[in-house]
Amino acid sequence: MNQDSQFQQSQDFKCKDHPEKPVQFWCKLNNCNENRIFCLNCQKQNKHVQHYDEDVLSIHELHQFLIEKSKLPKGLISECQISFQSTIKSYEKLMSGLSHKFCGLEEKITKLKPYQTQQALDSLISFDEFKNHLNTNILGLLQNQKRFQMIFLLNQNYI
Ligand SMILES: [Zn+2]
Ligand SMILES: [Zn+2]
Repeated sequence: MNQDSQFQQSQDFKCKDHPEKPVQFWCKLNNCNENRIFCLNCQKQNKHVQHYDEDVLSIHELHQFLIEKSKLPKGLISECQISFQSTIKSYEKLMSGLSHKFCGLEEKITKLKPYQTQQALDSLISFDEFKNHLNTNILGLLQNQKRFQMIFLLNQNYI
């Protein structure tokens, strides 16, 4: 895009708080509650003054920022795919470990030798703690999806 059309575009883009003014700045602070793309009037009202030096940039730098940032989700998708595969493998190992250790134990209980009874008691008491740990982790995984929906799908009309 050439400088003229970029200039024209920023002239057409009006401030949400001052619809007569073209936008001139934008703020990249994550938890900023002000209008994020704003005009000179907003600037004079010191709306972003607390974090101006670090987080406020010229409107002409916005497109480049969006282009750079929009490359990042691809990387995260690849990371998710790797995590997904290793999670499947880890669950397969876990399920086979649980089967190996505990399946059929119920039928053997009455035939166990004293030291085996001792071991079974230890294992089954530890089992509860392990089960709680596992459930907490599964809940954590489910929360990732909920958080994704909360953060991104509320905005789905914009892009
Ligand atoms: Zn404004
Ligand atoms: Zn701000």
